[in-house]
Amino acid sequence: MSEKKATEALKEQLFYSPKNGYDCIDVKERLALEKYCDAYKAYLNVSRTEREAVANAIAEAEANGFVPFTPGMELQPGMKLYRSNRGKSLLLAVVGKKPLDEGCTVAAAHVDSPRLDLKPLPLYEDGELCFLKTHYYGGIKKYQWVTIPLELHGVVTLKSGETVDVVIGRDADDPQFVITDLLPHLAADQMQKKAAEVIKGEGLNLLTGSVPYDGEEKERVKLAVISLLNDRYGITEEDFLSAELEVVPGFETRDIGVDRSMIGGYGHDDRVCAYAELRAIFDIGTPETTAVCILADKEEIGSTGATGMQSTAFECFIEDLCAAQGVDARRCYEKSFCLSADVCIGFDPLYPEVSEKRNNAKLNYGVGVMKYTGARGKSATNDADAETVGKLRKIFADAGVVWQMTELGKVDQGGGGTVAVYMARRNITTIDAGVPVLSMHAPFEVVAKFDCYMTYKGVKAVYERK
Ligand code: MN
Ligand code: MN
Repeated sequence: MSEKKATEALKEQLFYSPKNGYDCIDVKERLALEKYCDAYKAYLNVSRTEREAVANAIAEAEANGFVPFTPGMELQPGMKLYRSNRGKSLLLAVVGKKPLDEGCTVAAAHVDSPRLDLKPLPLYEDGELCFLKTHYYGGIKKYQWVTIPLELHGVVTLKSGETVDVVIGRDADDPQFVITDLLPHLAADQMQKKAAEVIKGEGLNLLTGSVPYDGEEKERVKLAVISLLNDRYGITEEDFLSAELEVVPGFETRDIGVDRSMIGGYGHDDRVCAYAELRAIFDIGTPETTAVCILADKEEIGSTGATGMQSTAFECFIEDLCAAQGVDARRCYEKSFCLSADVCIGFDPLYPEVSEKRNNAKLNYGVGVMKYTGARGKSATNDADAETVGKLRKIFADAGVVWQMTELGKVDQGGGGTVAVYMARRNITTIDAGVPVLSMHAPFEVVAKFDCYMTYKGVKAVYERK
C-alpha cells in the first residue's frame, strides 16, 4: 500500500464523516420516502390546530385498530389503546410482550404551533372597517404575520353550554383574513424601527369585514359581521368570552424546490414529529416493551396547563396501564426510555453566523439528535448522558436510520427547550431527536422529505428496541 493510500485508510477508520442522506438509501427506500411524505402532507394540511391534529390522529388510530383505554380493562400484548386528553392532547399505547415494570418506550411530540389567538373580547370597528384583536401564542416574529392569508379555526362554547366548531378559510371558496401593513411610500418612520417593534402585539388585528348593516346607527360594520357569525354559528359577541379561536396561516402545504425534495407548510414544529410517531406506532407489531406515543399540547408556551406535558395526565395514563397489570408505576418509569421527538434547527447558509457548522444539523442528513438544548451554560436542559446517546446510536445503527448530532445554535446565541425536561423529571431516561427545520416558527416552515422519513424510521426503531 502506498503511503498516501495508507493515510486515507487511516482517516476512513478514525475520522467521523457524515454523508448526505441521498448517498445512503436505495431506490426502494426513496419510493417509501415519497409515499410517507405524501401522507404527512395530507395530515398537516388539515391539522392546523392542536385540536385538529388530535382529532385527525384519533381517526387514523381507530382505522388502525386502536380503541379507547378505560381503567379496569384487561391488557393483552399487542392491544392498541388510546386516551384523548380533552381533545387537545393524545396518548396512545401498544401493549408490549414484557410487563410494564420492565419499562415502556415513549415518544413525545407536540401538536400545538405558534399562532395568534383571538382575545376574549376581540371584535371592534374603526374607520368603518371591522377587526378581530389577537394575542399571540408562542414565539413569533410579529412582522411575519402581516400581509399573509390567514384562517380562523377553533371552538366556541355558547351560553347554552353547547360547543360549536368554527373553521373559516380552509375551503378553497371560503373567505380568508389578513393583517395589513404600511405601504413603502409612507413607511419612512416605520423602516427606522427595530424589527421587534415594526409590528406591535396590539397591532396584530385581523381585517374581518367592511359592509355596514342597513340603518343609521354606529358600529354598523361590526353589527353586520356579528350577525353573519350568528347566522352561521349561532354566536353572539358575549360568546367570544368562552371561545378558543386560533388564527393560523392560510397557506397550502406544498413541495419546495424544482426537485420537490422539501416541504413548505405551517406547523411542521412539531406536527412533523407527531406524525412520525403516529405512523411508527401504527406500523409496529407487538413490541417487546409497551410503546407509548404522546401528542402534547402547550409546548410552545412552556408545556403548562392540564393538556401540557407538565400535567399529570401522563402519569394517570401510565399508572392506569400499570394497575391493569398489577405492577408498580415507579418501576415502570425508572426503566423506561423516552425519545422527546421535537424539531431542531437546520443549518441555513443564508444565516451561517448563528450556527456552529460542525455541530449543527443539515437538511438531508437525517434525524437530528440533540444531547442537550437550553441556553447559555446549558441552562434548563435535559442533557442526555453518554450511555443514553450510545443506546440510541446503537438502535439507529442496527436499523439503518440516518441521523446526525446537533446543537441549538452557537454558544450564547440564544436557546430553547422541549418537553424532554418534563419527561426526565418523571425519572425516565430521555433524549431529544427530530426533524431539522428552516424558518422555524415562521408561518411557512421548511423541512426536507428525507429527514421526515428518517424520523419516522428512527421512532419505529426505538419502539422496536429489544
Ligand atoms: Mn417544537
Ligand atoms: Mn417550537
